[in-house]
Formats: sequence, structure tokens, C-alpha cells
Amino acid sequence: MANTPSVPVRVRFCPSPTGNPHVGLVRTALFNWAYARHTGGTMVFRIEDTDAARDSEESYDQLLDSMRWLGLDWDEGPAAYDGSSVEAVGPHAPYRQSQRMDLYKDVAEKLLAAGHAYHCYCSTEELDARRDAARAAGKPSGYDGHCRDLTADQKQAYEAEGRPAIVRFRMPDEAITFTDLVRGEITVLPENVPDYGIVRANGAPLYTLVNPVDDALMEITHVLRGEDLLSSTPRQIALYRALISLGFAKAIPAFGHLPYVMGEGNKKLSKRDPQASLNIYRERGFLPEGLLNYLSLLGWSFSADQDIFTIPELIEKFDVADVNANPARFDLKKAESINADHIRLLDPKAFAEACEPWLTAPHANWAPEDFDRAAWEAIAPHAQTRVTVLSDITANVDFLFLKTPVEDEASWTKAMGKGDPAALLTTARAKLEAADWSDPESLKNAVLAAGEEHGLKLGKAQAPVRVAVTGRTVGLPLFESLEILGKDKTLTRIDAALAKLTA
Ligand code: GLU
Ligand code: ZN
Repeated sequence: MANTPSVPVRVRFCPSPTGNPHVGLVRTALFNWAYARHTGGTMVFRIEDTDAARDSEESYDQLLDSMRWLGLDWDEGPAAYDGSSVEAVGPHAPYRQSQRMDLYKDVAEKLLAAGHAYHCYCSTEELDARRDAARAAGKPSGYDGHCRDLTADQKQAYEAEGRPAIVRFRMPDEAITFTDLVRGEITVLPENVPDYGIVRANGAPLYTLVNPVDDALMEITHVLRGEDLLSSTPRQIALYRALISLGFAKAIPAFGHLPYVMGEGNKKLSKRDPQASLNIYRERGFLPEGLLNYLSLLGWSFSADQDIFTIPELIEKFDVADVNANPARFDLKKAESINADHIRLLDPKAFAEACEPWLTAPHANWAPEDFDRAAWEAIAPHAQTRVTVLSDITANVDFLFLKTPVEDEASWTKAMGKGDPAALLTTARAKLEAADWSDPESLKNAVLAAGEEHGLKLGKAQAPVRVAVTGRTVGLPLFESLEILGKDKTLTRIDAALAKLTA
């Protein structure tokens, strides 16, 4: 277990606004956030929107909205966490890379002037041809350094030809070693990290430049990100050294690469996998704390014998030093079961409120005015232990709000298909009519007594009643349900079932 670092921790979450947020991205945001909160550090939220062709404002809005829904608050970022209408929060604004282009231009020029970078005039065709030849000869196939040391005359000749030039970073001819917070010491040999492009021929700066430059300028101390970015780390460390020599950076951050998240069939969970979309979890009614609890277990564990915990407990315990390097398996069933536990942990009032969006239009299949809050509040405590995700609530309580219960032929046949349900329902109706409707025990005794008259145990006797009244064979405790639905509606529905049975 690592001690709290001596320099105040500054972590960043820096997504590109492309597409919908996915669970892998949320896991990265969460680990950064938990580490910031655990250490009393700063969470920087930066938007990497330098790819105008792929970035969208809609995706940007979704990122902010998702972070707010999850409760992952940031201390610095492109907007206020609380939604108040400010442009940016924090001393390193702006936090959208599309608004920082002049900075990158300046850094690129200084890297060029100091010889840390150079213009590369090679065309794609030339690069491809040389790469193929190197491959055929069994040599390293990365950039071969062709333009590293061009003479002034050669450069002039290329310029005169009108060749476009990209800017390439000059990698040092030495091994780069760093200690990954998750994986331990990693050494990369120079032949495996060729000089790489940092600015396009059209002047557009690339991720390879803007990401470490912003990490440097924003004084990020810990870079916690997915394992897929591990290969860019040696390059970034080399660039950092150049940035330090030019006065743009103070220190090289620590890096920690979070393990891959595997999906079905032992394949990496892909952004395009429907299981990966954050919106699906939100629409199904995962609680933010349930989802975060589950996602925190993708590469980390709370303790050997406890996997349900609150967000404050997570913050108290989370340390990046405890992250496991092995790939983590995304397990939907486990996510659901953890969420169900968090639903049970809600206080009853919070549970009732959390469900309401699913009980009012447009989620429900009854009119908004048919939603009856008093009935809902009465039944909610009986439902709280029975839902895995909040959207499960509609099927459990729809009988309260629908004019007639759901039409479900399979359930009808199951409950009414044997014996003499009409006779049973007739007796039960008479006894229910005479029962005490302020006491579910009295309703139960009515059905129990009706069953006895027809030689049926309570379980068998209540099945036709349940289907007649709720449309389903399983559901919440029946007699509490009847009491809350009320005498008139209950008897009317039994009458309708009898009419159907005897038609
Ligand atoms: N914008 C990059 C991405 O979303 C950030 C990568 C990083 O954390 O360095 O992949
Ligand atoms: Zn070149």
C-alpha cells in the first residue's frame, strides 16, 4: 500500500467527445476521481477535442451530464460541476483543447527551435515503401529517421518542391525506464520507439503532443489511464524531458495503466459493445453508487470478503497502488446483483423518489394522471427488496395504475387452466367483500377460507386471485397489494375475470 504522495495529487480525466460514454471510460474516470478524493488532491476534467471530424458537441454535453449523474465531481474543468453557467473552472483554463491551439503551436515551435523536433517531408507512399522494404529485410519497420538530420540544402529542395511537412519528435537514442504504478518497472528500448509525428502537415497538433503538453501545463502528477495507452508512455516521457528543458514542465508525472476490461468470449470489451454503453445502465435504472461500486471492482478490490460498499468507503480505501494488472472481466450479473444490494440500502423515501421517473410518463404505459403517489408510497417498501434495477419497478406495480391489469395469456392459462377457478373466485369474492379492508391479514384469511372450501391450500387459492387482480403470476405480497389497490377495484377485477371465465 502506497503512502500518500508528498506532492499534492493532481489527476486528470481527459476523454475525447466522440460517441456515447462507455463503462471503460467511466472506470478510468472513477479511478482518477477516487484517487484524487482519497489523497485530498485535485481532479482535473479536460476535453480532448482536437479532432474536429470526430468530436461532437452532443458527446461533450453527454460527458458532462454523465459525470454529474455519477456524482464524479471535478475541481477544474470546462464547466462548473454544479451546472452554473460559467465558461471554465480552474487556473489552467481553457480545459477544452480546441481552445488551446495557440499554446500547442508555441510549444511545437520551441521544440523545433531547440532541435527536439524536426520537419519530416516524407510522403505516405515513401514511408510505406521503406517500411515494406524494412519488413522484408527483417528490420524494425517504424520511422527510419530519414529526415532527422537533413542539411539546409536538402530542406530547401524539399520546400521548393512544395512538399508538405509534418513535425516529428526526435526520440533520444537511449532506453526509457519508468515505474508503472500498476505494473512496476518497464523498460523500452530505443529501436522500439521511433520518432513520431506531433503536428500534421496542415498545422493541426496531434494527441501525441497535446496530451502530454496539457498534462505538463496543468501540472498533472499522476496519469491513470487504460492499458491501451501504455505504448505511448515512453514517447511521452521523452517529450516531457524536452518540455522540462524548455521550462514548460516541472516534473514527469507518475503513470499507472489500468487493466483491460474483457467482455463476452474473453475479448476486450469494445466501445461498440451494447453492454458497454453507460446510457443503458442509466436507462435501466442502475443507481450511480451501484454502478460505481461494481466498476471499481474492475481491477481493484475493496477487501477479500466484502464487495458491497458505499462511495465514502471506496474513497477511504482506494489506492492506485492496489490496482491489479490482470485483465478484469465485465460481469453483468454481478453488476446487477451489486446494484440490487445498493437499492436495498436506500432509505425507503429515497427509494420511492428514485423510482418515480419510471412510474410517470414517458416510461410507463399509463397516463401520467393515473399515477397515484399515495398508492405508490404505500407499496414502495414492499417493492424495494424485489428490484434489481429501478426499471423493474413498473412490472411490479403497474396493476395499481393501469385501468385493467396487463393482458398476459400465459399467466392467465397458468393460474386459470386447471381446477375450477370460477368457483374459487366466486367464493373468494364473497369472503373478500365481507373482509376488513384495513387489514391485509383479514384479506388473507378470506382467501384462505375460500381455498379451504374448495380443497385448496393458500398458495393454490391465491394464484387465480393474483392473476385476476394484477395480471401476473408473481409479484409483491398479494394481500398488501389488494389492500393498497382497494376494495372496489379488486372486486371489479375479480368480476371481470369471472365474466371471462364463464363467457
Ligand atoms: N483523450 C485520450 C483518450 O480518450 C486520453 C488518453 C489519456 O488518458 O492519456 O483516449
Ligand atoms: Zn521524413
